[in-house]
Amino acid sequence: MKFFYHPVFEKHETGSMCPEKFSRIDKALSYLKENHEEIKPINGEEYIFRVHSKEYIDLIRNHSSIEDISQPLSEAYASKKTYEAACYAAGASVDAAKLSLKGESSFALVRPPGHHAPFGGFCIFNNIVIAADYLLRKDKKVMVIDFDAHHGNGSQHFLKDRENVVYFSTHEHPFYPGTGKESIDNCYNFPLSSGSGDKEFIDIIDNELKPLLNSFNPDVVGVSAGFDSMRDDPLTNLNLSTFSYNELCKSISKYVPFFILEGGYNPENVFKGVKQIFEYFD
Ligand SMILES: [Zn+2]
Repeated sequence: MKFFYHPVFEKHETGSMCPEKFSRIDKALSYLKENHEEIKPINGEEYIFRVHSKEYIDLIRNHSSIEDISQPLSEAYASKKTYEAACYAAGASVDAAKLSLKGESSFALVRPPGHHAPFGGFCIFNNIVIAADYLLRKDKKVMVIDFDAHHGNGSQHFLKDRENVVYFSTHEHPFYPGTGKESIDNCYNFPLSSGSGDKEFIDIIDNELKPLLNSFNPDVVGVSAGFDSMRDDPLTNLNLSTFSYNELCKSISKYVPFFILEGGYNPENVFKGVKQIFEYFD
């Protein structure tokens, strides 16, 4: 399994108070560089305009031109290299989707994350939706699976009611951002109460995800991989172990999934989660 990474992801600075910082992925990146093939992604600027409004993109670009760290959205920070980093994060996500079409699974280890965009939450551009949009324009049926501890309110906003795509999310609830309490149209939401772990997650995979995969029968599966759903994340209260990710990989492997990093604020967990997925697919 290969991974997409660009050094500009290190230059997206968010200030000392924000938990979404480069150090959270440092250990996972070292592991990948030592053990797996790295691919430099394309700049995905043209794909961003297919999903986000020009006004929103201009807001991010204008804040990124300021030398110091600025705050274009309620929780998301921008610095001088943020716009460029976010363009490459989108590009890495589209590249990963393209590789799936060629029959190969991959992982986009990106910053900034995306599944809350355009609504904040440390996210800038919605990477998974930009990748799904690329596939939908190629007439592919797409399932997006999101196991981040937070509900992907941005992903649901863009994918709801769109043809040939379903969004499937497990997330802590009640919790930020407060959405995802129930399923709506093509968005399948499975809230997990605080303290939930592998048993609750795997029950959802067995009883909800597997039947949906069989009935919807996607051409490609894209995964919003947020490792803040693991035990001992400093921001959340879920207790998943890497066993859950292994079971998820098992259930989706025939759909040649691609993975895009979302949250995860315990560097050891991000490393372990990434490693589990690579070990499954190698
Ligand atoms: Zn999260």
